[in-house]
Amino acid sequence: MSRIAVVGAGVGGLAVAARLTALGHRVTVFEQAGEVGGKLGLYSHTTAAGTFRFDTGPSLLTMPWVFEDLFAATGDPLAEVLSLRALDPIADYRYADGARFGTCSDPAEFGARLDAALGGGAGAQWARFWDRAERIWAATRGPFLESPVHGFGTLARQAVRMRDLAAIAPWRSLSGLAASYLSDPRLRRFAERYATYTGSDPRRAPAALAAVPYAELAYGGWYAEGGLRTLAGALAARCPDVRTGCAVTRILVRNGRAAGVELAGGSAIEADLVVANADAEHLYGSLLPVPSQRRRIARATPSLSGFVLLLGLRGRTPGLAHHTVLFPAGPYSAEFDAVFGDPARPAPDPVLYVSAPDDPAVRPDGHEAWFVLVNAPRHGTGPGAIDWRAPGLAEGYAQRLLALLAERGLDVRDRIAFAVHRSPADLEASAAAPGGAIYGTSSNGPRAAFLRPANRSPVPGLFLAGGSAHPGGGLPLVALSAQITAGLIGPA
Ligand SMILES: Cc1cc2nc3c(=O)[nH]c(=O)nc-3n(C[C@H](O)[C@H](O)[C@H](O)COP(=O)(O)OP(=O)(O)OC[C@H]3O[C@@H](n4cnc5c(N)ncnc54)[C@H](O)[C@@H]3O)c2cc1C
Repeated sequence: MSRIAVVGAGVGGLAVAARLTALGHRVTVFEQAGEVGGKLGLYSHTTAAGTFRFDTGPSLLTMPWVFEDLFAATGDPLAEVLSLRALDPIADYRYADGARFGTCSDPAEFGARLDAALGGGAGAQWARFWDRAERIWAATRGPFLESPVHGFGTLARQAVRMRDLAAIAPWRSLSGLAASYLSDPRLRRFAERYATYTGSDPRRAPAALAAVPYAELAYGGWYAEGGLRTLAGALAARCPDVRTGCAVTRILVRNGRAAGVELAGGSAIEADLVVANADAEHLYGSLLPVPSQRRRIARATPSLSGFVLLLGLRGRTPGLAHHTVLFPAGPYSAEFDAVFGDPARPAPDPVLYVSAPDDPAVRPDGHEAWFVLVNAPRHGTGPGAIDWRAPGLAEGYAQRLLALLAERGLDVRDRIAFAVHRSPADLEASAAAPGGAIYGTSSNGPRAAFLRPANRSPVPGLFLAGGSAHPGGGLPLVALSAQITAGLIGPA
């Protein structure tokens, strides 16, 4: 049995702690915030009508088997702990020309919906893209998503072994792949948008990201009754020793090995192994400076961040799906030019994403709780960042987004019971995520996957589990990161 200190109680930290506990180790999780969950956050607001509860981070759960495996390995099965609901549509996509379709996990039905909404053989176009996406998924799932990597060499060797290197086309971007299969510009936008699920620009992200829509549509999009946030509580219940309000200031090293953590206030906690769930930039930049790792992270483009509106609304919106995506009339590229630009700026006309769960547990009767998300440049100074704390900036942008919602057919301004906004600066503060980057580094550029920190650090006894490490961000990948790390550490 090893004593293991886990830095951070995000999903990655909780998942690895639950797995390592089940493997017989003595695990303590240290979380700087007052509650567990990290980016999987909760915001509650009570009015005379009742209480609104918002997921402030993830609103869509994909690849549910990853969580079924996690729960089965650590205690009662998932189905006995959380109530997952399959969504249909997974999301309602709306375009400026009035076209609209809902995604679903039945390929034939989805093809028929595309034909009905877009015409012009859209279903057949998508079917050809889908076949390619399936081949990419099959080639990358085991060797990449579910396996550790140890830097460029291993990953390159794994890539060479992959059965279908031609399918992955490492030289190609997601936009390029979409353009070669999808002649309908609306379908191209639909496919390109999935790059943002890894914090990236589809024009620079690799074609391999076609695996993202494949995984979502093949295995469905899911909601956890009561809010996705309930996942964090269910995982925390499997970790016997979680200490919130406990910031780690340093990883202790003795004889060249990670030997514990130092907490704010100065107390030292000894451990045989340390697992960092904290963002890798924070880890290698300040908790345990490792210049080579820091330089490697600096070579990658940071992930985009998000600007969020939380709206408590009176009344109900006819025909509103659980998730709605509202595309702008103008070119999609403008959003990425703004968000990843130098200088960066808030996108003036971004895609709007609305999540409005029809769940009595999260909104009072006769009301709706809307989470509205747009991609945003990260917070900070220097290239690609902006100071979201600049007077009036976030407030003004929140008003702009309400006006855009109205322009695109969802005018809720006279129904607002209350509204709150959260900028990248708020995300940085709440989850200790540098710049409020959602996914650590982005997948921009063909080398991005090689630059993402490995789960086993170069410092003996120090491991990483979380969205800024391999294999990446998003709830299922973070849980896979924890699975890989627990596998590297092994049983007590
Ligand atoms: C707005 C938004 C929308 C999203 N939508 C989706 C979605 O729909 N579906 C999806 O799958 N994913 C989504 N994601 C991504 C998903 O939330 C993340 O990939 C995932 O939650 C990251 O988990 P993590 O454990 O890697 O990191 P985090 O959640 O960032 O956890 C890291 C934890 O470490 C703690 N920590 C950091 N430094 C220290 C320290 N020094 N001492 C102690 N504790 C420390 C932090 O406080 C934090 O709790 C979204 C994220 C955001 C922000």
